[in-house]
Amino acid sequence: MTLYSPFDKWATEEHKLFSDSVQKFYEEEMSPNIEEWVDQGKVPNSFWEKAGDSGIMGGAVPESVGGFGGDIGFDSITVYEQARKGDSGWGYGIQSIVIHYLNSYGTDEQKSKWLPRLIAGTSIAALAMTEPGAGSDLQAIKTSAKRDGNQYRLNGSKIFITNGGSADLIVVAAKTDISAGARGISLVLLDTKEADGFRRGRPLKKLGLKGNDTAELFFDDIKIPLTNLIGPEEGQGFYQMMKQLPWERLLIGITALGAIDFAFEETVKYVQERKAFGKRIMDLQNTRFKLAEAKTKAEVLRSFVNDCVARLIDGKLDAATASMAKYWGSQVQNEVMDECLQLHGGYGYILDYPIARMYADARVQKIYGGSNEIMKELIARSLDQ
Ligand SMILES: Cc1cc2nc3c(=O)[nH]c(=O)nc-3n(C[C@H](O)[C@H](O)[C@H](O)COP(=O)(O)OP(=O)(O)OC[C@H]3O[C@@H](n4cnc5c(N)ncnc54)[C@H](O)[C@@H]3O)c2cc1C
Repeated sequence: MTLYSPFDKWATEEHKLFSDSVQKFYEEEMSPNIEEWVDQGKVPNSFWEKAGDSGIMGGAVPESVGGFGGDIGFDSITVYEQARKGDSGWGYGIQSIVIHYLNSYGTDEQKSKWLPRLIAGTSIAALAMTEPGAGSDLQAIKTSAKRDGNQYRLNGSKIFITNGGSADLIVVAAKTDISAGARGISLVLLDTKEADGFRRGRPLKKLGLKGNDTAELFFDDIKIPLTNLIGPEEGQGFYQMMKQLPWERLLIGITALGAIDFAFEETVKYVQERKAFGKRIMDLQNTRFKLAEAKTKAEVLRSFVNDCVARLIDGKLDAATASMAKYWGSQVQNEVMDECLQLHGGYGYILDYPIARMYADARVQKIYGGSNEIMKELIARSLDQ
């Protein structure tokens, strides 16, 4: 079976060398530890620091703030290769989103304080938008950052926050004007080490993504300096989030592709070894057809994701197309995981086999990052202008 390089269409020599070193790093430092992370419900800080030392984060960020001045192709490789190893615990996807927010809208002071640490893995970031009463309908958030002299007072709570259990830096979506809808939302930086009134809830028990410390967060009158506002003025948060959506959504499509490639390879190995009725499961026509269907779906997705990365590198990926990558990638991922699990028989349901974990991990891809229903709504909106 040929596993094509995921990013044939746009990858330069530099990207390919980068991809080799990311794979090597993951083989040595990620693959042997995935099960332990799942059991512990988090990825240890030491892994973040090793990832920083190996230079696999912040590829699209200027050298002056710790990156290596490349393009988004580098982050695409970091994210793809992680999923390709079958890991869903390490929260670099969110870290990369925060890095891009800071790089695009941060003040010089914010960039020089946080970007080098985030890229070195000595600080972990989270992005807190969702609240118990507001997920898809982000405009309805209640968390407020009210001006009081030379500071904000942050009040409210967030739920389902990836990296929330360990984050040193949290980008919080809060209302600086509670009477306004989307225009009242701003993004503010919360340094968790300097936050009186900050509390993390108990780790959320999830169906999948068990290696990630997804948490509920509580803000009780936390004082934050006005200089922690991201961007030049209040009320820009919604606009800033919308501008970054192409990467956030494509990221989910790329993760889907990596997970499919891993699951597919595991499944082929399994059906080649397992026997029933005197022959290999691989020799049954149903198995061959199911694998042919899955492989076709993977290659169609690869082509589309490849094209989206190329467009994003050129600055031409629009939000509707990125929404298609998120919706289609996660949909296909779930279909393929289901078929791959089925081909494992009862063993596919047992967590000792990676396919069981990957099946559970896939489910949330249709929900977070904007649910697939919201993706379809956005795609439809772009057709009706
Ligand atoms: C493991 C995990 C990690 C997450 N990580 C983060 C994170 O790091 N940061 C963060 O801010 N959030 C995070 N989330 C939250 C996630 O983005 C939200 O759960 C998601 O946006 C959906 O919001 P909700 O759960 O409130 O569902 P709701 O908005 O209540 O939606 C419920 C159902 O109604 C549907 N629906 C809602 N509105 C419409 C509509 N207009 N048309 C059609 N159908 C609609 C939805 O598609 C869904 O099926 C995470 C969630 C999970 C489970």
